[in-house]
Amino acid sequence: TSFAHFGFDEQLMHQIRKSEYTQPTPIQCQGVPIALSGRDMIGIAKTGSGKTAAFIWPIMVHIMDQKELEDGEGPIAVIVCPTRELCQQIHAECKRFGKAYSLRSVAVYGGGSMWEQAKALQEGAEIVVCTPGRLIDHVKKKATSLQRVTYLVFDEADRMFDMGFEYQVRSIASHVRPDRQTLLFSATFRKKIERLARDILVDPIRVVQ
Ligand code: AMP
Repeated sequence: TSFAHFGFDEQLMHQIRKSEYTQPTPIQCQGVPIALSGRDMIGIAKTGSGKTAAFIWPIMVHIMDQKELEDGEGPIAVIVCPTRELCQQIHAECKRFGKAYSLRSVAVYGGGSMWEQAKALQEGAEIVVCTPGRLIDHVKKKATSLQRVTYLVFDEADRMFDMGFEYQVRSIASHVRPDRQTLLFSATFRKKIERLARDILVDPIRVVQ
């Protein structure tokens, strides 16, 4: 498979060429067409597999299919991950590829300034990358809303569970409209992750790196 098979438009292809990736990784070859089709997906993949781009590119396409954000509206896509470092990495990739369409991404994570994050959220962003507890704090304080979210990604779900975020992960899923698209990534597929997948995904396709 080459990048041309994904059917991305010229703006996104331009950003991919600029990143100097020569060909899609296995998780991208398998995952991108599924994500583009609108189906829910479980990706069993580790860091280094290229999983981030596998969900970010379809997010871009999804957002471009939606009506533009109006003032005061919350994000269209939310990516939930376990740590500040991962948040910043994913956010950097969102900005890099989001240039294709001038999309805005905001990163909100524990340990960062609540006030600065709230300000960035209120300015508006199509994509929010977050750690679970901090996103919930901002929603409670009405700095953002999950009402417009139609694309939800949980990255490194097993690590979030290890860090004790199961309740927060489930709470976020239950506050996003049920007709959303949901992607779940995890390095392992343990019983607890399987149960989560059964509870928050609809008829998912499973992809193993
Ligand atoms: P990830 O597994 O998403 O954390 O990605 C690991 C690294 O691989 C990141 O630095 C990406 O920029 C890079 N990467 C993602 N997709 C590709 C690709 N198709 N070819 C080469 N490198 C890639």
